[in-house]
Amino acid sequence: MIRNVTSTRKKIIVGFDFDGVVAYNPARLARLPIALIKRHVLGIHNVSFFVPRTPLERGFWALAHESSFFPAQGAALLRNLARNHRIEAHLVTSRFAFLEPNLTRFLKRWDLSDCFESITLNTREEQAHMYKERVIREKKFDYFIEDNWDIVAHLSAKNVRTHIHWIYNIFDRGRNYEDKYPYLKQSLERIIELNNIPV
Ligand SMILES: [Mg+2]
Repeated sequence: MIRNVTSTRKKIIVGFDFDGVVAYNPARLARLPIALIKRHVLGIHNVSFFVPRTPLERGFWALAHESSFFPAQGAALLRNLARNHRIEAHLVTSRFAFLEPNLTRFLKRWDLSDCFESITLNTREEQAHMYKERVIREKKFDYFIEDNWDIVAHLSAKNVRTHIHWIYNIFDRGRNYEDKYPYLKQSLERIIELNNIPV
């Protein structure tokens, strides 16, 4: 592939979470009340993520990720920025390896396959927050865009050198966080503005 070399400026490297950032799944919102009950009623505060292991669990998990999902508001801007080499985009999803075909289908279907320099799945089945911290440190992103509050809070507490943008949802919107945005679009617009990226 021939790349335009028109500028010597450092390209901004942006990491993207997939579910809830690049892809929007209305059905997944239904899981939020469960998380809230767990936290506020049962008082379970530790961050732990379910790892499906049996074929049945994996089947349900795949189905839950397959149901009705669409590109997020801002996916077109992401495509535009990546294709014009305004940013270097990387996808980092906590999805396990067995969900890769589903992910690939989504990217093809919505014309996003060629937008990412790298696509990283949670192939070692690490806890999602530890996994994201590790990959973000390794890849040295300038920005990482994430919708899961527990992960955002973890990354902030661990002082990763990457700016973490949080995409909030209707249940979590009251939280205080400097870099919070309703959709991917506003997060990208802020990155464009701060870095004088020509669009
Ligand atoms: Mg997510």
